Amino acid sequence: MKFSKSYIKTLKETPKEAEVISHILMLRAGMIKKLASGIYSYLPLGYKALKKVENIVREEMDRAGALEVHMPVIQPAELWQESGRWSVMGPEMFRLKDRHERDFVLGPTHEEVITDIVRSDISSYKALPVNLYQIQTKFRDERRPRFGLMRGREFLMKDAYSFHTSQESLDEEFENMRETYSRIFTRCGLKFRPVEADSGAIGGNGSQEFHVLAESGEDEIIYSDGCDYAANIETATSKLVNPPKEEEKEIELVHTPDSPTIEKLAEFLNIPLTRTVKALLYKDLGTDEFYMVLIRGDFDVNEIKLKNAINAVAVEMATDEEIENLGLIKGYIGPYKLANDKIKIVADLSVIELSNHVTGAHQKDYHFVNVNYGRDYKADIIKDIRTVKVGETCPKSDGKLHSARGIECGHVFKLGTKYSEALKATYLDKDGKTQTMIMGCYGIGVSRTMAAAIEQNYDENGIIWPVAIAPYVVDIIPANVKNEAQTSLAESIYQKLKAENIDVMLDDRDEKPGFKFKDADLIGFPFKVVVGKRAEEGIVELKIRKTGETLEISKDEVINKIKELMLKY
Ligand code: ATP
Ligand code: MG
Repeated sequence: MKFSKSYIKTLKETPKEAEVISHILMLRAGMIKKLASGIYSYLPLGYKALKKVENIVREEMDRAGALEVHMPVIQPAELWQESGRWSVMGPEMFRLKDRHERDFVLGPTHEEVITDIVRSDISSYKALPVNLYQIQTKFRDERRPRFGLMRGREFLMKDAYSFHTSQESLDEEFENMRETYSRIFTRCGLKFRPVEADSGAIGGNGSQEFHVLAESGEDEIIYSDGCDYAANIETATSKLVNPPKEEEKEIELVHTPDSPTIEKLAEFLNIPLTRTVKALLYKDLGTDEFYMVLIRGDFDVNEIKLKNAINAVAVEMATDEEIENLGLIKGYIGPYKLANDKIKIVADLSVIELSNHVTGAHQKDYHFVNVNYGRDYKADIIKDIRTVKVGETCPKSDGKLHSARGIECGHVFKLGTKYSEALKATYLDKDGKTQTMIMGCYGIGVSRTMAAAIEQNYDENGIIWPVAIAPYVVDIIPANVKNEAQTSLAESIYQKLKAENIDVMLDDRDEKPGFKFKDADLIGFPFKVVVGKRAEEGIVELKIRKTGETLEISKDEVINKIKELMLKY
């Protein structure tokens, strides 16, 4: 591609609308253009990078034995009613009506459609397992579309769905997909980490996310320095270390003035925080039921774990008014002598083994001390509902837990029979008995991965593309386009690289070299070939974007050198 013929409009200024680096740089490099909030056009340069990610995904999915399909964006509401998600999806789903007033949705995901296809096509165990995938635009009316391609309302996803006759067969394909995802992100040239992820109320190890590591990542991931344990903070756990067990003492009511926080209370009673229990009141937003949540004073409640523990769609802390209406006193609630039997108690694992702890006494400025689980109160639900803290011990080894930021670019998930049951996707087994198919689903945010690549690879001058997904790998810059020796050497290197099928740009614009270098760094070509003063001797400069290194090299060696460097960056 000749720069003069390309459609690249770079910007010097940082666009006001952009908050994160990938968004800023993609706008400045002229890769994308906003049409509406969370909705972008890909311009030629951006589309070329997107296609590279897409091709890697496609090649690896094909290699893994998945079969590519292409399903409709527009889906009838009936399918979503059948699965039960018509009401669950809420305002995130774009809905529309046809001319006959029939309801449709713009596909936010395709479990319903694929299950509908497979249930009508497959009736025998002989046709299973199968893994079908597509690379397609998805529509989600996100509450907060932001960060450019990172959280769009229209975005490109690779989604795959597998169907099985047994759990073992699903496990096998899940592993196959995990390996495939590792290959995909490795081939994209990205630093990433597979982590355990929230698998909803079902629990288990059937959900893993692939995070591209970047400071700007929306997610916090926890990892161990003792083994390969890594998990999203939403689901991460730790080895619980409680203070030593004591003999159970008699409960006392203690006056605790001026102790509005758990820290102040511990200080006033001169006990460690690990001897206190916080009682928090939560509301299940689906059923409007209230739960008293108990957790050791030094821990925080993990609302995702809590939501799963009580099987709620969403939870929220009770308001002061709700607490009062339940006959409780804010700051002094506790499980012992709880007068309201409508409130269910959820205890974190950290409180049930805790000897002689402190809890609220249902009157202002008073607490009970020497309270013990079992003897003095019981919980309706006992589960790990705490948020782990950096420095805690790994649940799988003696390593310590650390934290990093990540961008969720992929997700592999064992669905089980959630959709096949709802949509009656069944088959006949060897004995002619009807069975329900077992499913897995596997997503990659293709456009998000492209943005994440930039979040991980940039400097103050612009993008630093990994070779594998760079829109163009080499930028050839004749320093002076009026110099015949320079332009003809530049042209000949350009033709040679093209003949090698290497994506190359020739910056043939009649501009100062410094101006062209700035654009080159902003756009992020992994390599620049500068054809300058020594063109007549057949010598050019080869610059490596990532390291800033410059090599003086003869025109006869430059192609091989680039091919060699392409394997490295
Ligand atoms: P998130 O928690 O970020 O909203 P999700 O759990 O809704 O993601 P999935 O439904 O698992 O995501 O979708 C599969 C993949 O699609 C995600 O791993 C992510 O890479 C990508 N993705 C999801 N939502 C968006 C979005 N709004 N914009 C761009 N990519 C997205
Ligand atoms: Mg989402």
